[in-house]
Amino acid sequence: MFSKVLIANRGEIALRVIRACQELGVRTVAVYSDADARAPHVREADEAVHVGPPPSAQSYLLGDRLIEAAKRTGAEAIHPGYGFLSEREWFARAVREAGLTFVGPPAEAIEAMGSKTAARQLAIRAGTPVVPGTTEPLRDAAEAAAIAEQYGYPVLLKAAAGGGGKGMRVVRAAGEIAGALESAQREARNAFGDDAVYVEKYIEGPRHVEIQVLGDRHGNMLHLGERECSVQRRHQKMIEEAPSVAVTPELRARMGAAAVAAARAAGYENAGTCEFLLDRDGNFYFLEMNTRIQVEHPVTELVMGVDLVQWQLRVAAGEALPFRQEELEPRGWAIECRITSEDPSNGFLPSTGRISYLHLPTGPGVRWDGGIEAGSEVGLYYDPMLAKLIVHARTRELAIARMHRALLELTVEGVETSRDFHLRVMEHDDFRRGDISIQWLEQHLPELTGAGASDEEKLVAAIAAALVADRVRGGPPRAAAGAANGASNGAAAMPAPAAG
Ligand code: ADP
Repeated sequence: MFSKVLIANRGEIALRVIRACQELGVRTVAVYSDADARAPHVREADEAVHVGPPPSAQSYLLGDRLIEAAKRTGAEAIHPGYGFLSEREWFARAVREAGLTFVGPPAEAIEAMGSKTAARQLAIRAGTPVVPGTTEPLRDAAEAAAIAEQYGYPVLLKAAAGGGGKGMRVVRAAGEIAGALESAQREARNAFGDDAVYVEKYIEGPRHVEIQVLGDRHGNMLHLGERECSVQRRHQKMIEEAPSVAVTPELRARMGAAAVAAARAAGYENAGTCEFLLDRDGNFYFLEMNTRIQVEHPVTELVMGVDLVQWQLRVAAGEALPFRQEELEPRGWAIECRITSEDPSNGFLPSTGRISYLHLPTGPGVRWDGGIEAGSEVGLYYDPMLAKLIVHARTRELAIARMHRALLELTVEGVETSRDFHLRVMEHDDFRRGDISIQWLEQHLPELTGAGASDEEKLVAAIAAALVADRVRGGPPRAAAGAANGASNGAAAMPAPAAG
């Protein structure tokens, strides 16, 4: 095992990697910008190196400076986390050329899966089903219209370099295609410096189901089942769970084999994720491969009993995976809610400020992967995700009840958060039945966000939630804190799960 690892990231994922290192007896080096000088990840690491001013282009994205910091502190490996430099093939290569280990896949595998079009070609060669569509960038609107005609509307124009839902446009009729192509190209050029756009058939009402894979340097490539991430807003995940209500053991085995085949075709090692759409008839289509640890990895860790971040470090250090595919079966149910500094009742507007009070949920089956504490400043420099609240229970019904209870225990004051949105989802009949698709959230936005409610309605809801919170806590009323937090409209309607 390594003796020292530098973590080229910040926030909750930096802390997550530090914890994995600590349990493996590995010393840690944090990096930080001026904005993060007092951040928890800096304090928890054994050492910390200042890398620049707050904008990430001048700090967390300066690959050479991070490599230099690793060499200076005697770190042998760099863990990139997610986001920032985690999927930059040049960074993985530069780390290797500096004589250090990149805790992730080989640079060549990142490159092979780097554009959506290249990944689609690779998946097709591996025999993994992809969404019907093209694998080459469009030349112009006439070509786009001809291809759309061939697949039938609606189609989706998608940036080859895409990520984070950017550069995507749904086109429902021929008349819209020229304008949609132009705006997708413009968005892609601005976001990725690459305006290549291709066409996919737009699948109506599918689920987003992804397969976690894990490979070592000795030719072992395993899958760790699925995560369902259908609760999305603007193609961005908000809630994830494992397993998926839509996946049978037989389908899991088939999707797992397809993901393993795609990963093998890319020469993959370490942890990665193949994303699929699953349609209503049980057909699945490869979307892309994320060549890094994902935000939602904890739900897999909980149901599989495998510490993915520790295994990332172990396989990067050359260890062989000791598992057999047959022993990797999900146990129970895990759900994750992304706690973001956004105001759901106000169009998910980013909220900034100083966290003046923070009360974290605890108790059986509750995990908090966070990067904040009371006193933390939440600014606009970085992603609005503050933390992830994750629960594990024996059944899905119990996991939902546990998440609801944990969300009620959570109090964040000083910034608006997505907490109340998550409470409403946990209370919603469709979600409780598992009757969701990637369009579900957007179709139910007003009832899930409380947008449009009058101040009076919001106050009534806040009081109701505070009363329920008291009942759950069994403690003295904390109506003030609950009301200040805003609250869930239907908190009182949360039915009790069957015993189990
Ligand atoms: P990004 O890399 O920008 O996140 P993805 O290809 O992973 O883009 O797609 C993000 C989300 O967009 C998916 O989870 C799904 O909700 C939706 N999506 C992508 N492709 C399609 C498609 N062909 N049909 C319907 N929805 C799609």
